Amino acid sequence: MRIVLAGNPNSGKTTLFNSLTGSTAKVGNWPGVTIEKKEGLILGNHDLMLTDLPGIYSLTPYTLEEDIARNVLLSESVDCIINIVDASNIERNLYLTSQLMDLKIPMIIVLNMMDVVTKRGDKIDISKLELQLGHPIIEMVATKHKGIEKIVPLLKQASKRSPSTMVWFDKVVMGAIHNLQSIAHCGEYDAIKVFERDPQFMSKLSTEQLENAERIIEEIESFYQDESKSIVVNQRYQQVDKIVKNIMVKADEKITVTDRIDRIVMHRFLALPIFFIIMALIYYISITSVGDLTIGWVEGLISWIQVQGETLLVSLGASEVIIRLIIDGIIGSIGSIFVFVPQLMILFFFLSLLEDSGYMSRIAFIMDRVFRQIGLSGKSFIPMLIGTGCSIPGVMASRGIENKADREMTILLTPFIPCGAKLPVYAMFLSMMFPKQGWLGPVIYIMPFVVVVIVGYLMKLIRGSGGNLSPFIIELPEYKLPHYHSVLVHMWDKAKEFVKRAGSIIFVAVTILWLLQSFDFQLNYVDDISVSMLAQIGNYLKVIFVPLGFGDFWAASVAALAGTVAKEVVVTTFASIGQTTDIIFTQVSAFSFIIFVSFSAPCVAAMSTMYKELGSLKKTLMAIGFQTGIAYTLSLIFYQTASRIFAGTVAMNPVVLDFGNFEGLPENGIIFSQMGFFIVGLFVLLGAYVLVVNILIKRKLMRGIVS
Ligand code: GDP
Ligand code: MG
Repeated sequence: MRIVLAGNPNSGKTTLFNSLTGSTAKVGNWPGVTIEKKEGLILGNHDLMLTDLPGIYSLTPYTLEEDIARNVLLSESVDCIINIVDASNIERNLYLTSQLMDLKIPMIIVLNMMDVVTKRGDKIDISKLELQLGHPIIEMVATKHKGIEKIVPLLKQASKRSPSTMVWFDKVVMGAIHNLQSIAHCGEYDAIKVFERDPQFMSKLSTEQLENAERIIEEIESFYQDESKSIVVNQRYQQVDKIVKNIMVKADEKITVTDRIDRIVMHRFLALPIFFIIMALIYYISITSVGDLTIGWVEGLISWIQVQGETLLVSLGASEVIIRLIIDGIIGSIGSIFVFVPQLMILFFFLSLLEDSGYMSRIAFIMDRVFRQIGLSGKSFIPMLIGTGCSIPGVMASRGIENKADREMTILLTPFIPCGAKLPVYAMFLSMMFPKQGWLGPVIYIMPFVVVVIVGYLMKLIRGSGGNLSPFIIELPEYKLPHYHSVLVHMWDKAKEFVKRAGSIIFVAVTILWLLQSFDFQLNYVDDISVSMLAQIGNYLKVIFVPLGFGDFWAASVAALAGTVAKEVVVTTFASIGQTTDIIFTQVSAFSFIIFVSFSAPCVAAMSTMYKELGSLKKTLMAIGFQTGIAYTLSLIFYQTASRIFAGTVAMNPVVLDFGNFEGLPENGIIFSQMGFFIVGLFVLLGAYVLVVNILIKRKLMRGIVS
């Protein structure tokens, strides 16, 4: 028997799914998209297969999630729907129920979150509701496993129950629907869809059927002076309202805790400062303080593995080349990536806390107004914010954006945000090339944000603001204490994904790079890097960079290329080449190089994440080409103007990179990143703040919430 779990986002589907299936669940993606698909057998029942559908508000496909859910329900043989209803938001949730009931599939309605209802003092007359809807109802508190045991017995009798006779529309509309049924020779569900002019159903009709259908629809529309689609929506909501009034006794409206918290955190002047303080705290804990400690631990662990591994390989009689490849090339390089895993886990821990408590939806709501100005949805803000740590989780976080165009634009722009790995590159050049220009640090850091805003705005112009921006329907759920289990699972899932990637694509890239810098084209192991394949490739490549000012010596082009493995590798490449050869830059060419590294295609891991999230190789290649094109253009413009303006000044004097001070760099890097974060935070805060306050005052948007 095939059963699906359907319901609004955050109604408790996943919680119920997990406790029904235990550990048997398989997690994957829906075909072609990166929206999670979970399937599993109900514990102790080998014939009850349960699928967790994506959270949806309706079956009218406005979003990818709704499209998927609707296709499953319409095209696959679903034997029973478990419709999970958030009883603390019963009106909105029953709207979806009304659409699910149209499908005439056996259904069990679960009223979840009954603890919230009880606590508020509201009362729901379950048997009356059951009678009205004509489907069995279970009261539930999914997090406390209350009511879960009642599901299996009901499932087993599902097919035997007589179908519901509930009617959602008035006589006029029902009459039209019946007429459409006989015109299109279809069931009631299809007829309702035809009435709504749903393209997927209209396309099934012949020209003559279409004409007849159109006549009937227009007749009703002129009767109600409204579009057929909104007639359907309105009548459903009216019916839902009537039912809720009939079965629910609400306690006197009190000012809830949620209202009180919202009064502060959604306050028109305080909202953003509070948000930035919270984010700064999270960054301080996960990246700077606690996170920084974990780096030491992982580094210790990795060098221990390297020592043990080397001893083992030597005792096995492995050749020097193999030992260097495994110990330095593979373990060393991959280890340098694993170093960030604990930091990321801590970061994700806090982010899922924010998500689960209901705070993130509020932030998206506030930021939406700002981001709309540049044509992005408010949900793009979170990926970019996370991107200041690392583009990989940043790009992954774009999953939360339903609108495809917005999501793709966010994936395209997020890698521009200076991630943690670019900071050592900036730090290296600043300390070696610009020792007296301290102000340049913040400039380098802010530059990408400015570019994101400009590119975003230009793309909006190109895309045209025409109608396609989906309405930002966001629910502001009640605050709740996060459930520790779902937070931990969330955090663990993210870490697992990261580790998987390190084991695959990064592993391959790192091995190839090591081979290239250790062998020449005759495949002899070389000590002198300048005769390696890497140097020879660099000699071909460097021509490309001549117009950007750093094309004279192969090292710069190789470093830029190696930066695609991981941006820190730019520094290590220079450092290892610089030990044998002089690397020469001018201040102008160094800055041009910084611009190129900042904007060109991100590291391989981020590229593979982009590919995973975009779901298309063509789009990924286009995105990478676009990013690198922007990088090249900006560097070109900069170098060609600056080298003329500064001709004959110190800024054009050749300087040899001095790796004598290299040991001191990491500390500089940290100081720089804190300072950078602080300054950028301040700037973004001020800018966004002024913008938001302006808009809010102008449009009196949040009146309802604030007052
Ligand atoms: P989904 O989006 O529908 O999959 O919902 P989840 O299962 O992820 O649940 C959303 C949030 O609601 C989580 O924080 C759960 O811990 C919480 N939750 C789920 N069921 C209940 C319940 O019965 N009572 C309360 N108070 N919280 C619940
Ligand atoms: Mg879920």
